[in-house]
This record gives sequence, structure tokens and C-alpha cells, in this order.
Amino acid sequence: MAVLHRASWVVPVTSAPIQNGAVLVEHGRVVKVAKSAEFKGLDAKIIDYGQGVLMPGLVNGHTHLELSHCVATVNDNPGDMVAWIADLLRFRETYTDDDVVSRAGECVAGMILEGVDLIVDIGNDPSFVRSSSDSKVLFFHELLGLSQKAALFMGEVLESRATNYTCHAPYSTSLSLLQQIKRQASDLKHIMPIHVAESLAEMDFIKTGQGDFKLFLEERGFWDGSFVAPESSPVKYLNDLGLLDPDTLCVHCVHVDEHDLQTLYETEAKVCLCLGSNEYLGVGLPPVPQMLEIGLLPCLGTDSLASNPQVSIWREMNLVHQHFPTVTAAQIIHMATRNGATALQCSEYGSLSAGAVSMIFVEYAGNTPLDYLSFNSSPKQVTRCM
Ligand SMILES: [Zn+2]
Repeated sequence: MAVLHRASWVVPVTSAPIQNGAVLVEHGRVVKVAKSAEFKGLDAKIIDYGQGVLMPGLVNGHTHLELSHCVATVNDNPGDMVAWIADLLRFRETYTDDDVVSRAGECVAGMILEGVDLIVDIGNDPSFVRSSSDSKVLFFHELLGLSQKAALFMGEVLESRATNYTCHAPYSTSLSLLQQIKRQASDLKHIMPIHVAESLAEMDFIKTGQGDFKLFLEERGFWDGSFVAPESSPVKYLNDLGLLDPDTLCVHCVHVDEHDLQTLYETEAKVCLCLGSNEYLGVGLPPVPQMLEIGLLPCLGTDSLASNPQVSIWREMNLVHQHFPTVTAAQIIHMATRNGATALQCSEYGSLSAGAVSMIFVEYAGNTPLDYLSFNSSPKQVTRCM
């Protein structure tokens, strides 16, 4: 049966907000969005939400649910990403698989409560995450290995084609393995998320082959000397390897110069910002206004609880506003919805266009709904509508 959802505001994202709007839904899909008055006399069940905003569910473009038990508290080494990785590896070993599964489940539940409908989850073990019927979790099994031995082993894992595989980062994955994973992702026609240009240690390592990452790998016996530094930026390196195209999702992009931004734009690679994580790790912040100016359409990700005290897309939206006040409310809402759905190639999410399958209601009394959704840091009261 047709259901007409009404509220004081409808924010379809792909078109201007509608005051006293309504959304007609049939068979779980949006059919039409318009002023409430346009639906007068329609034979449909009516749900009137009152004061607030009907909008698409949010999209979380990057997290690691299997790290939900590694709760970020105080970062003892701000700016030192290598030290954080070492701490994380130690911390992970103190928990059982059951802890990991239950904390990952709680984390997804929290995201669903706040209105997230689509999640990119990167992990090392798919069994840690049970997808929920209320949200779509796109899982990618992350592979890494810089030494020849590790890359060969991971290449064999890749051959199993057991799930969708992706690369960890340019500093942790050998050239051949990066290309092999990208080739398979292209063959299987799925997107390929990858951490890119997150820290200065990464920039140093890709530029010179030296620095903290090399010491870290040496200490752990993972350094065999086969890595040859490309002496470029991580973005240029990935592009030179043929890894950047519209199906690649570059996560972080903190340290990108104008040439890198131009490369990302020309290759149509997608970008996912994780400001909460960047802030916590003290690695710097991405040049968001410059990204928008050049025509990039970044989406938002929370990263995991291991590097972000709160995994909330509402908070990530607010962080964009706090750090980059020139970015408009409409641009921030796009980041949290439509841009994410586009990057993940899930066109039925991220807007209330015809065919959309995701809608939430956010309580709000006022006349500037876009500002409220993007700029206001107070917790949002969310009801799921579809
Ligand atoms: Zn990550």
C-alpha cells in the first residue's frame, strides 16, 4: 500500500528543501517528493511526523567494525601515527573473538540509531561483523604486505576470491600486490577503498623509503629491502600504478597538494574524509575547501573507535563546519548522504529521488533545516522511516 510521509521539512538532497513537504513511498521505494498539498485526496496511508526533517539515511564511507573494542581514549602520541599503530596491535591481542564480535555489533547498532543506512566496513576477518537488516554493510577484506614473501602469500589469498578484497595503504602493500588487488576489484566490478596520504610518516616513506614506517617494519622483521620508494606523493604513486579511477575510494587524503587534487579530479577517484580520526591522531586535516573548489565530491567516514572517540556521522558533519566554516550546509549534507552513495555506487541511497530505499526523520522546529543538520552539534533525535 502507498504510504505518504509528511513533515514540516523534506530535504531530498538532490533538490531544494521543501517546507510542509511529503514523500510518497510504495513497495519500500520513494515514488515522489513534493509539497504536502500536492498529494491532497490521494488514497494512501498518511504518517505525519510533525516538526522535523525527512531526509535520506546517512552514509558512513569508512570504518573498521572489528576495531570497535579498541576504544580511543587519550592519544599519548599525537602526530605519531606509527606509535599509534604499535599501540593498537598490542591492544588488539588482549581481547577475545567474542569481545570483538559483540563490540562490533554494538557499534553497528549505534550507527543505525543515529540514522546511518549504508556503511563501508574494512577488516581482516568477515566473521567479526554480522550485517544488520536495518543497514547495508559493505564489507571489504583488507590485504597488506610489503615484503616479497608477504605479498606472495596475500596474492594467494586473493586468488581464493572468497570476498571483496581491498588494499590497506601504499606504505603497507607492495607495488605488485596493489596492482593485483586493483585488477581483481575491476574484474569483479566492485569499488576499492584504500587509505591514502594520511600521515607525514607515510609521505616520508613513499618519498624516501626511510623514516618511522621503515623502522617499524624492520623492528617487526617485515622489512626485506624490496620496497623501492617511488619518490613521489602517495596519490601520484597510486595513479602511476594505474590504481586511480572512478571505482577507487581514497580514504583520508590529508596530505594532498594541488597536483594531487588535480589527479584525483581527473581520474574521478572518490575521496572519503575522516576528520574525527585525523583530529584524534593529530596527523593534520585535509584541504576540504580546495577539494570542493576543484570539483571533488568527498564523502564522510568515521573510521573506527580505535582512532575516533565517537563514531557519528553527525559529528563528522559538524567537524567539517567547525574546521572549515566556509563550507556550506548543503555541501556538508551532500557529503554525508549523496556523495557517499555515489562513491559506493549505491544509487538507491543518499537522496530521496524516485527509487530511493532509505529515509529518516530528524526532529527539528525551525526554518533553517540545512543549518541545523550540518552546523548544530547537539544530538539528533532520529526515527527510521523505511
Ligand atoms: Zn581506516
